[in-house]
Amino acid sequence: MYDIIIIGSGPAGLTAAIYAARANLKTLVIAGIKWGGQLQLTTLVENYPGFPEGIQGPDLMMNFRKQAEHHGVEFIDDDFPGADFSNLQSPFRFVIGDKTVEGKAVLISTGADTKWLDIPGEKERIGRGVSSCAPCDAPFFKNKKVIVVGGGDSAMEEACVLTNFAEHITIVYRGDSLRASQIMQNKAKANPKVTVVYDTVLTEILGANRVEKVKLNSDLKSQNSKLQLKIQNLNKDLSLNEIGGKVNSMYAEKTDWELDIEGVFVAIGHIPNTKIFRGIHVDERGYVLQEKSTHTNIEGVFVAGDVQDDRYMQAVTAAGFGCMAALDIERWLREKE
Ligand code: NDP
Repeated sequence: MYDIIIIGSGPAGLTAAIYAARANLKTLVIAGIKWGGQLQLTTLVENYPGFPEGIQGPDLMMNFRKQAEHHGVEFIDDDFPGADFSNLQSPFRFVIGDKTVEGKAVLISTGADTKWLDIPGEKERIGRGVSSCAPCDAPFFKNKKVIVVGGGDSAMEEACVLTNFAEHITIVYRGDSLRASQIMQNKAKANPKVTVVYDTVLTEILGANRVEKVKLNSDLKSQNSKLQLKIQNLNKDLSLNEIGGKVNSMYAEKTDWELDIEGVFVAIGHIPNTKIFRGIHVDERGYVLQEKSTHTNIEGVFVAGDVQDDRYMQAVTAAGFGCMAALDIERWLREKE
């Protein structure tokens, strides 16, 4: 019987594992076939404290895992098959492959996946000009021209962070009226380095090795009795020419064009990994709801990391949430004895 079964092996799950094992709790991590979470997909991480020169994301996760193993944490490198918690109570019993495991408490730390555009040229350039995290990667784009895709608060925030480094930021939004809160929109739009292109989608990312160019498709709208693309900088209308765009073709009320650019920041949302759970309260987008600190609605089931956090989404905050959950679980187990 384990004291804690941790589902997920990103910074939240592994930090919780380290804290739990050091509190003498028998700890199992169901790590997943692709263990380690989002950091396994990144390259240099320069904002995780303790590494003055930065550290590669996969190396950081290997360090987390070695530290957990050093303290006696056990791992199953298999995917969690799913569970309906409304039918379960402590001790929780799960069948993982050919093993049956039992635990007094469960921590859900399955993270959230970045929503990518899923267009040609994107996947192979993640970490080579394509990013989903401006606070992590903006310093690599000093004096470069970049694009931010999306129209929500994340896109505005990414653009604002990039203004400290990039030469120019073009926000590309598929609609004609940004979804972001007014205050965030105003902040981004007030910066002369930020131009917003509306009614536009990216169709391809190009470049020999890194990002060099993007292809776009835009809806033209009637403005001042002319078919035009809506492009604005500091509330001034601009033409495609003025932002360096090259038209490839025009048809019906659309145009295909391209833009030379060195970075693409994708900020179109995240997908929390909660589809495998039933009976756990989640919000309308699938993020786990916390009842009290890191407790979920099910007694003995706790949550930590990006699976419950759509705001900070950083390795260091996920690790912090993991630490909080381990301390809550330790207290909960003690009170139960
Ligand atoms: P949102 O879901 O709010 O916005 C996603 C944006 O991406 C939308 O504009 C959407 O377009 C666009 N989009 C989605 N899919 C595609 C696609 N395939 N191609 C092109 N565009 C696409 O997500 P956010 O991550 O921006 O925000 C999530 C939550 O976090 C929100 O509640 C937000 O308020 C909050 N947040 C708060 C912050 C703050 O207060 N500082 C900072 C960041 C986030 P469309 O509008 O057409 O649907």
